[in-house]
Amino acid sequence: MPQFDPATTLQTIGLPRRLTASTLVAHYAQALSRDIRLAALPGLAATTGWCGLWIRGDDEVDHIFVDQATTAVSTLETHVVAHEIGHIAAGHDQGVTAEAGLIAMLKERFPTLPPHVIVRAVMARTTYELQAEHEAERFATLVMARASLQSGTSFGRAAARMFISWKEPTS
Ligand SMILES: [Zn+2]
Repeated sequence: MPQFDPATTLQTIGLPRRLTASTLVAHYAQALSRDIRLAALPGLAATTGWCGLWIRGDDEVDHIFVDQATTAVSTLETHVVAHEIGHIAAGHDQGVTAEAGLIAMLKERFPTLPPHVIVRAVMARTTYELQAEHEAERFATLVMARASLQSGTSFGRAAARMFISWKEPTS
């Protein structure tokens, strides 16, 4: 796996002035020179158990899907989207192939998905994927800490301390 340093990536690319799921997607799409599209899927969590899903199509478009219910809580949606962007920024698609059964289930349940896809999701099946999940979640945590600090309020500073105290799981 190529080296991915979430803190350095965040330092280099930064954050949009007003952080939302949409502005985060637009900011990183431009910085990474990728076509990243965000959409909500009703029933994603109920069907798969995941709040978010990243799918890269054969057309090289990155689709980030969040559960429809996630969009009702903007900080949760932003966190979920930041996690998936962490995977994209880290290049976590390498060597990953989704199980045929998973693809079939997703296509049946969500017929608008692209025809040929690489799927990354909140699952840890192998050591590779476990490390990838830690990296993506570390990135999301740092994004939320930075955004909390940028709010310039005492609540924001307290929230940032909470995020920054988040520890890497020991393996
Ligand atoms: Zn993940």
